[in-house]
Amino acid sequence: MERARFAIKAGRIIDGTGRSPIERGVVLVDGERIAAVGREIDVRIPQDVEIIDCAAQTVLPGFVDAHSHASIVPGLGDQIGQLRQPPAPQILRAVQNLRSDLRSGVTTMRVVGEEHFIDVDLRETIAAGRLPGPRLLVATRPITARNGHGAALTFSDGEEEIRRHIRENVAGGADLIKLFMTGGVSSKGTAARWYAYTPHEVQVAVDEAHRNGKPVAVHAHGGPGVAICIDAGVDTIEHGKLCDLEDFVAMRKRGTWLVTNNAVSGHPDGIEKGDAHVPSIMAKLKESRETSRQTFRFVLESGVKWALGTDSMHGLLWWEIAKVVEWGADPHDAILAATRRAAEAIGMGSEIGSLEPGKVADVISVDGDPLDDIGCLERVGVIVQGGRRRDTLSAQ
Ligand SMILES: [Zn+2]
Repeated sequence: MERARFAIKAGRIIDGTGRSPIERGVVLVDGERIAAVGREIDVRIPQDVEIIDCAAQTVLPGFVDAHSHASIVPGLGDQIGQLRQPPAPQILRAVQNLRSDLRSGVTTMRVVGEEHFIDVDLRETIAAGRLPGPRLLVATRPITARNGHGAALTFSDGEEEIRRHIRENVAGGADLIKLFMTGGVSSKGTAARWYAYTPHEVQVAVDEAHRNGKPVAVHAHGGPGVAICIDAGVDTIEHGKLCDLEDFVAMRKRGTWLVTNNAVSGHPDGIEKGDAHVPSIMAKLKESRETSRQTFRFVLESGVKWALGTDSMHGLLWWEIAKVVEWGADPHDAILAATRRAAEAIGMGSEIGSLEPGKVADVISVDGDPLDDIGCLERVGVIVQGGRRRDTLSAQ
């Protein structure tokens, strides 16, 4: 394959570093990497390169979805039941889901829990260029207690099973370890503040994962389980929808990331659509919705490092960004939570998440100025992933 060189001319560049936008800028792509970024008058564009004209658009780093699943569609209901299915129906859903994720400008996604190791196969197929989708980091089978949230086909009770399943996951190709600590919204039996694992079991999981060089992402909404996980040294707390200010301050002090999400509980196509007939789930959904805005205030107030994910609301990362802006986040900061900070949260900050020379060329354009109108992030135009156009069939 010939090495592609092209220049994207942008009306405005938000480069993901946090610096002020660059007006009338250029991103020069050489092969899979970014060669130069700057103002049009400062970047020398070689004569023979193709120009992609985004003069009427804003150019950004490709989005990073820090928490999703490949095979789940929340609107179909019974998410855990979806994970209990045989591989074929799950993969068929995943192919569609990952396509719409990529179309929404998500060039990298962290998949935090699948059965049958289908996420490893999906990651490899996408990396080989045979399936359109975000570049994936995968957790494979979640570590969850028999009576825990997320308990689909694989259960890990006690030190021995936790260690064995983490080792099997690593051997099977896991990039990270996902552990379910507290209850969740989308399962029938678990209260969101209840927690499954003893401090010793969490510590065992963290030690086993870290000894293997794998970060630990923990599903936790709130209650005492959160502090246990922070103390044990987990890398990211996922959701944190019922955390209080104290929890977030503890995370900030320890350097623990928060990866949060709102669409699955707040968007009409999420749990509301899929599980409307299950009263216990609807009750938890109601509480989650009522507390979400206040919880997000605690996030901002605490100074905890936070990033965004969609939790299987495929194609809706823009909605996640818009929602936190509605709740008081600065638009530029919210964009960083789905670009550079999301990349850092998943351990890829040196490779992706911002438009800087030497980084992987993941670049998108949106129709409008998101600092003025955050909803324009839905209108994605150009999509470049690893230096290759993904928004035009002919260029694939
Ligand atoms: Zn999830």
